[in-house]
Amino acid sequence: MSQLPRVQHEFDVCVIGGGMAGMIAAMASARHGAKTCLVHDRPVLGGNASSEVRMWICGPQKKNLKETGILEEIQLENYYRNPSLNYSIWDSVLYGKAFFEPNLTTFLNTTCNGAEMDGDRIASVTCWTLTSQTWQVISAKQFIDCSGDGILGGVTPALWRSGRESREEFNESIQPSQADDKTMGNSLLIQIRKTDSPQPFIPPTWAYKFTSPSDIPYRMSGVNGSNFWWIELGGLQDTIGDAEAIRDELMRAVYGIWDYIKNHAAEKEEAANWALEWIGSLPGKRENRRFVGDHILTQNDIREQRHFDDIVAYGGWPMDDHHPAGLLYPGQPTIFHGAPAPYAIPLRCLYSKNIPNMLFAGRNISATHIAFASTRVMATCAVGGQAVGTAAALWLGEKSNDIRALSTPANVRALQQRLLRDDAFLLDLRNEEPDDLARAATPSATSGENTAALAIDGVTRDLRASFGAWSSDSEHAWTSTALPASLALELPAAKPIREVHLTFDSGFERELILTPAHWHRQHSAPRGPQAKIVSHYRVKIDGKVVHEETGNFLRKRVHRLAAPVIGRVIEIECLATHDAPIARIFEVRCYA
Ligand SMILES: Cc1cc2nc3c(=O)[nH]c(=O)nc-3n(C[C@H](O)[C@H](O)[C@H](O)COP(=O)(O)OP(=O)(O)OC[C@H]3O[C@@H](n4cnc5c(N)ncnc54)[C@H](O)[C@@H]3O)c2cc1C
Repeated sequence: MSQLPRVQHEFDVCVIGGGMAGMIAAMASARHGAKTCLVHDRPVLGGNASSEVRMWICGPQKKNLKETGILEEIQLENYYRNPSLNYSIWDSVLYGKAFFEPNLTTFLNTTCNGAEMDGDRIASVTCWTLTSQTWQVISAKQFIDCSGDGILGGVTPALWRSGRESREEFNESIQPSQADDKTMGNSLLIQIRKTDSPQPFIPPTWAYKFTSPSDIPYRMSGVNGSNFWWIELGGLQDTIGDAEAIRDELMRAVYGIWDYIKNHAAEKEEAANWALEWIGSLPGKRENRRFVGDHILTQNDIREQRHFDDIVAYGGWPMDDHHPAGLLYPGQPTIFHGAPAPYAIPLRCLYSKNIPNMLFAGRNISATHIAFASTRVMATCAVGGQAVGTAAALWLGEKSNDIRALSTPANVRALQQRLLRDDAFLLDLRNEEPDDLARAATPSATSGENTAALAIDGVTRDLRASFGAWSSDSEHAWTSTALPASLALELPAAKPIREVHLTFDSGFERELILTPAHWHRQHSAPRGPQAKIVSHYRVKIDGKVVHEETGNFLRKRVHRLAAPVIGRVIEIECLATHDAPIARIFEVRCYA
């Protein structure tokens, strides 16, 4: 009989899987007051973006569509604290976010591998902590599966599908004519570094031998630009059940590829001074279970930029459909089928059709294979995570915990408004919060007066022509002409003010990516705090400073005052940015 301890826990919300979707779901849930836990089976957070796998976080490719909210908060902190783009520091950024968030308990090295049902609901999950040899039995009101592989599909009756649908099933022109169970494969990545002297490489005896370009057609793009995502295998197998065997093949392939580059390829002279810095041991997984929700997102939803009343997230990456044979396929390893950006992702794709208290975010959402080929990128996973974490927490007070029943139009509108308050971007929606006192204010400014009203127009980014119903280019920030400069909002009458929210311009023209790919590491800029962000500012109410901030590096700031201050004029005095001659503020909100 087992003597191993079995610890019982009770949470409001239990999130499984600490990739970008799960981390952000858990943070959002905890920030909205739910007693939340995050169960993650690895020692470091971030999933495929972690130091163990090293994929870089992508989203819609248009820079003005950059994801904001919790994801950008994490990325801005990483660029601020980690200008050398070091993966250990990235680990520490994610660790800090998970372990120092009030209301959030994180279990690392802990695998969910069982569940107890209460009728059609999940009552608890059973998890195993490898390091402390402890069983954790976690009861919760809501469960959110962000495990990528969709573990709750394996241990509960939650409906899921995998593989490729037939073209006919959803009228999707990109799908194969016959449905099959093929998926995208798994990959091990390589990180390399240029040095000043020749760096020999002796391959292990067990590495595969690639000796001519015909062994890996269409795969090399020179050493400097190398990005090794195409070392991909397993799409013709079961990426869960065969995961260990696929890893073994990938180990042989990845060392064989580096041997080819160093010792056999036409690029070998160019590669002479390049050293191997790191090769992953944990393959990144792309595809397996996709849960079935009340709506299954399709190619046509994406291509038509379909409007959904219950939009809670968005995507915009092309439908990047890798060939299931991966490295074994002697043709282009992927086809980028165009997708308009942004397109909407509805809440109905993020909760289970048959388990009332189960939500999900990440690569396992309710989408067809070809729609998934776009939604799977991590920034899109992350904004979905923020949506479900917020929904789960926001609706806890309701009598029911049936997400479908809770998704009334009024509740969904409240969720959307809360997401916008938390700096999410939702196509076609703007701040309409009745509680926001600033919306009724009269704006003025010491410079850039003609743009002052833009700080309360409800839109927190500049828009470009392709943004859905917003069909014209427009700016949405108060923009000073010099520094220092002040923006003032005069309320119709004096009110007690408890909370002031500020949204600065973080400069979407730059990408905040962390990657092992050499070219990107060279060109990802600017590092450190972002130039346009207002670093030094004062918040004043009726001329009295209620908060002064120096060294700010974030876009969205929330200042909760120790006690309400009664006043009529809220002024934001901008004294300095990190490296821009003017200040820009997209939004000021005030709450009693
Ligand atoms: C090689 C490769 C290249 C890619 N290229 C890009 C790219 O350039 N940009 C991009 O944005 N996306 C890219 N993707 C896709 C992207 O990485 C995934 O779709 C994305 O990581 C999915 O996010 P997620 O949070 O759902 O899952 P994951 O990142 O897989 O995170 C889920 C986490 O849950 C944990 N977990 C799993 N089961 C359990 C369990 N039972 N209990 C507890 N924890 C569990 C896992 O260990 C994992 O860390 C790539 C993927 C691969 C594999």
